Formats: sequence, C-alpha cells, structure tokens
Amino acid sequence: MAGQPTNSEEDPRAAGAAPASPSTASLTQTTSVAEAVATDSGRLVAEAEQLLRRSNRRHEQVFVLGGGPGGCAAALRAAELGGRTVIVEERRLGGTPLQWGGVAVHVFLEAARRRADAQAALPGGQRLPLPEGMSSLPHQVEEVCTRLSAEARRKLEDCGVEVVEGRGTLTAHSMAVDRAGQRDFGSGGVVLACGASALMPDWAPEGHPRVLTPEGLLSSGTVPERLVVVGGGAVGVEFGSLYSRLGAAVTLVEARPRLLPALDEDLPAELSALLAARGIEIRTSCRVCAVEGSAQEAVVRCAADEKAQSADRVLLAVGRRPNTRGLGLEARGVKIDRGRIVVDAHCQTSVGGVYALGDLVHGSGFAQVAVAEGRTAAGHALGENVSMRGRHVPVCVHSSPPVAAVGLSEAAAREAGHEVALGTARFEESVRGSLAEVPGGLVKVVANAQHGRLLGVHIVGPCAEELVGEAALALSFGATAAELARNLHPTPGYGEVLAEAAGSVRVAGGRG
Ligand SMILES: Cc1cc2nc3c(=O)[nH]c(=O)nc-3n(C[C@H](O)[C@H](O)[C@H](O)COP(=O)(O)OP(=O)(O)OC[C@H]3O[C@@H](n4cnc5c(N)ncnc54)[C@H](O)[C@@H]3O)c2cc1C
Repeated sequence: MAGQPTNSEEDPRAAGAAPASPSTASLTQTTSVAEAVATDSGRLVAEAEQLLRRSNRRHEQVFVLGGGPGGCAAALRAAELGGRTVIVEERRLGGTPLQWGGVAVHVFLEAARRRADAQAALPGGQRLPLPEGMSSLPHQVEEVCTRLSAEARRKLEDCGVEVVEGRGTLTAHSMAVDRAGQRDFGSGGVVLACGASALMPDWAPEGHPRVLTPEGLLSSGTVPERLVVVGGGAVGVEFGSLYSRLGAAVTLVEARPRLLPALDEDLPAELSALLAARGIEIRTSCRVCAVEGSAQEAVVRCAADEKAQSADRVLLAVGRRPNTRGLGLEARGVKIDRGRIVVDAHCQTSVGGVYALGDLVHGSGFAQVAVAEGRTAAGHALGENVSMRGRHVPVCVHSSPPVAAVGLSEAAAREAGHEVALGTARFEESVRGSLAEVPGGLVKVVANAQHGRLLGVHIVGPCAEELVGEAALALSFGATAAELARNLHPTPGYGEVLAEAAGSVRVAGGRG
C-alpha cells in the first residue's frame, strides 16, 4: 500500500533485504543487545518489585468500606496489586460527588456560565430574569450521576472487585454487612472510606423548607431571589458565587475574619474584592447564633450585631462531620480525636491493618485527596512502600473566578521555619487577561529565599484549576521558582501569569 514502509525499511534482516555492511551489522547487533539488556533489566526490576511486595504483603484480601472516590481508588489499586478485593457501599457507588456533591455543582455551574454569557450579550445594564429552566437541572444531575455510577461499578467489576450493596461495620477481626446477612468476610486489610455528612448546627431548625443543606438547595431546582449562605469555606464560597451568577442576591456570612480561612491570606482578600464587585455582600467576623424560618422567609441573626438578615432561603455550609458513628470503631480500638480518625502517613489508623482516608479523616476535603489516600492505603496494605509524606495535592474552589493552591501558604512556610521569598503577578496585566477584560486575580509564588525552591503556589483568577496542575508538578520535582519561570508557556495565555509570578521571586544572590 502506498506510503507504508516496506519490509526492508522496517527490518533489514527481512527476506529480500540487501545484506548489511559489516559496520552496520555490528551496530545493529550492539543496539539489539542493548535493547535486550534494557528490556531484561526492566523486567527483572518489575519482577523484583513484585517479589518484594509479596514478601512485604501484609494482607491477601482487602475490604473497602464506602464507595466514594477514595474507596473506589483503594479498591482499584488493591485489585491492580493482585489482592482479593471487596467494596461495600450503602447508597450509590461514586460517593458524595454523585450524591448531590461536586458533579451536581458542575451541572449547575455550566448553566450559570451559559446564563452569564447571555447576560453579557444584553445591551447596557439590562438584567436577565431568574432562570425558568432551572427545574430541569435536577433531572439532568440524576441522569449524569446514574451513568457515572454505573461506569464506576463496571470498572470495579472488570478489575475483579466484588461489589456488595449494604451498610458495613467493623467486627472483631473482619467486617459485616447488613444486607449481605452476617457474611464472614474472613481476615484481611480494611480501608475505611465512609466520607462525611453536612453538619447541622443546633442553632438552625432541622428540616425547615427555607433552611437548606447544599444537597437540599441544588435538588430544589429553584433560584431564590435572596439567599444567605452561612459559612465562607470552599462549599459556601462555591455556592454563593454560583447562585449569584444564576441571579440571586447573595450574602455570604463567615464567622472568621476572612473567607477561605485555610488558604494563603492574599487569596481571600483578592477573591472577596472580586465577589463584592459582582454584587455579593460579604460579612466576615460575623458568627451566626440563630436561624429562624417562617412560611414567608428565613431570618439569620449574628452574635456581633443586632441587625437580622432576612432571605428567601438560607444555605447552611458550616462544615461536614466525618461518618464515624456506627462503624464499630470503638470495638476495634481505632483512635479518634475530635471526631476524626487518627492516621499516619500510610493512612493507617492506630490499629494495624485498618486504614482510613478522605473526608472520614479530614471532614471537609477534596476528591483528589481521597483518591491519592485510597491508592496509598491499598498499596501499603498489600506491601508497597508508599506514603502521603511529601505529596503535593492541589486544591481548588470552583467559584467565579476559581481559586486554587498547592503547597505551603506564606504564613505556613514561615511557621515551618523557612526564610521566604515571594513573587506575584496579576491576571489583568497579562496580554490574555487584558484581551478577555478580566477584572482582577493574581498568582502568588512562595519560595525558599536561600535557594529559590518552590514551597507553594496560590492562584485566584481564570483557569486557576488548570494552572495549579503545573505548579503541583513543579513542586513534586523540587523545582525552583526560576525553573518554573523558564518553562515555556503559550502566548497569549494565562500560563504566562504563572511564569511571571515565578520569575519575580528574588532569592539570596539574584533571581530564584
Ligand atoms: C457540595 C459539594 C461540592 C464538592 N465539590 C468538590 C469539587 O468540585 N472537587 C473536589 O475535589 N471535591 C469536592 N467536594 C468534596 C468531595 O466530594 C469529597 O472530598 C470527596 O467525595 C471525599 O471522598 P471520600 O471517598 O472520602 O467520601 P465520599 O465521597 O463521601 O464517599 C463515602 C461513601 O461511603 C458510603 N458509606 C458511608 N458509610 C458507609 C457504611 N458504613 N457502609 C457502606 N457505605 C458507607 C457513602 O454512602 C458514600 O458513598 C465537594 C463536596 C460537597 C459537599
């Protein structure tokens, strides 16, 4: 066939090929010997690793309790490593993201983006009415989540994982599942991946139709005219930003002095200014002490002032509580501290062979953290020398603009004893930013002032969730700020803002 290489081009030893000259022949032989050695040594290393794993193997079976992102990742990794694996899930495989969590939020975010585009196309100052088509979104969410959950099951079963439906508890040596009778699962490693549930504060009425959890608000399929969001963490900020884009008048109330208190303090400051410019009212240092609901409205009262805030709906986003209750942890002696299971860097609890991960350990976490921990827990149970130590896990808040971070904040770096050098760059000053007329946003790079090695990267601005991946890779490879700056980025593009921030870091004796 035209254009295809002939046999003689592919392989000079093929029938009909011209005999090779002595020098070419010896070169070919040397190459194939080198290739054979490389292949053999690669195989030998893989075999040696497998043998080592087997000899280190702590368990032959792995039982995973909870089929969220962390549990599924643990089960897949355990099966990949040859362990007999069972996963138990009481609701829907896929966990919180498929139970009115992240996936539902992203379906709504897409609707909000479309609405913002339509709004931008309207002549000066005209406002779109509150969206009517919202009522179809819960149905869309159900469809997407059902499909993704079925795919998760197929993937697990294809890998040889046994999926059991029901609620699992730890027993003295193993695990029991209510719907599977008192089936004895035998001995093995156990990975607890049961996630967390929305915290219901005692100062709010439970079950009132105007006082909702994130799940309740999304599944209602409506956009209230006035929404008060109690809680300025990742979920509160995400929902406040989302419902403002959908047309609600939003007030965000946070007890601490700033939004997103876990992040580098320059990010919340920048984000608050951008959200306020979009019309979101932000009340920080405002501890809510009561929420009351009536047939007409809901009222939020703060301890700091007498001014009550009324709204059509109140969203409670005050954190999540690890699902530790009823798991049989006490019977096994698993150590818990302030409601959270205590684990080491291998995700192992105080009881050997029992692992815990994700939101069950952190409360309000991120899916990618649970996944990384799931792979670590399963790997360690089956003899791998893996841990979470030194892992750089990026985090992201899907607000508008998004916020993302990896590594240490400036304050955490100083607290850890680093002498710190900083670099910043602004999105609106970049070519891409000025073309897109972005209203603001920044990248902040934290590096060691002696040698310029990166310690953390913090971003608020367009594509933050994508840019942070490059920063995480740079941190994982121990790159310096100068090395990150030298990495080439397409122009005009937002990657240039990351490079510029890294390039502006000054370290002892010159550039980072
Ligand atoms: C509204 C919202 C939006 C979010 N958006 C994002 C986002 O955009 N990006 C991101 O990274 N993170 C996001 N998160 C956080 C993310 O969903 C969690 O960090 C992640 O799901 C934690 O994974 P996990 O495996 O630890 O637990 P989960 O996902 O909570 O899964 C735990 C599973 O265990 C099951 N289970 C519990 N107890 C038992 C038992 N005894 N027996 C059997 N099964 C049991 C539960 O039914 C559940 O399916 C969001 C969270 C919320 C609430």
